[in-house]
Amino acid sequence: MKKLFIIANWKANKTEEETLIWLNEIKELLAEKPSYGEGDKEIVVCPPFTLLPILSKFIKSNQLPIRVGSQDISIFGQGAYTGEVTAAMLHDFVSFCIIGHSERRKNFNETDEIVSKKVEMAKGAGFLPIVCVQSEETPVPEGSAIVAYEPIFAIGTGQPDTPEDAEKVAKNIKVKYPFVQHVLYGGSVNGEDVKSFTQMPSVDGVLVGGASLIAAKFMQIIENS
Ligand code: PEP
Repeated sequence: MKKLFIIANWKANKTEEETLIWLNEIKELLAEKPSYGEGDKEIVVCPPFTLLPILSKFIKSNQLPIRVGSQDISIFGQGAYTGEVTAAMLHDFVSFCIIGHSERRKNFNETDEIVSKKVEMAKGAGFLPIVCVQSEETPVPEGSAIVAYEPIFAIGTGQPDTPEDAEKVAKNIKVKYPFVQHVLYGGSVNGEDVKSFTQMPSVDGVLVGGASLIAAKFMQIIENS
């Protein structure tokens, strides 16, 4: 059976208090399903930078089957780069790193070249980059282990792509870039439609935005995937 990645992208959402509520809720829900995270489902949560310490501390002390990722990484190392969060700063908290999300490309002028540099930074620190591509034409930097196909029309719109399209793109990416090990689909995934994507042979999981903010909805996605 293939390994499925169920990855939450919280974007710019949640305070510390809201995060603790979410964590306590998911803890209760996961307690009813003790096998998750150990076998065929890898659950990853990517909160904003500010919440990484509290989230990873809670996960460790409660031994939850959840791994942690960041939503970005600096192209710079330590130094005079005001506002940046470097690989070394992330090191204690994350094992995954979302790179090249369309919201970063659009709002922060991230180019393919910057995405490439970020992938290098993440790999250098030992994190698994999750590179977001908006179509099969988006270049995938060398050595990216995980790619998330996220068509812009499907993000936050309630209008997901079809599972058949996701399968076609995932398959083509794996052929074009043999170093890509897993291709995920992202864009308006919910508990009802998740299985239609994860049952596709070339789709290895989902990247979830809006629906991951509510613990019960995220749990439903995990369960139904
Ligand atoms: C995303 O932004 O990565 C995403 C998949 O968002 P949503 O699930 O809200 O469409």
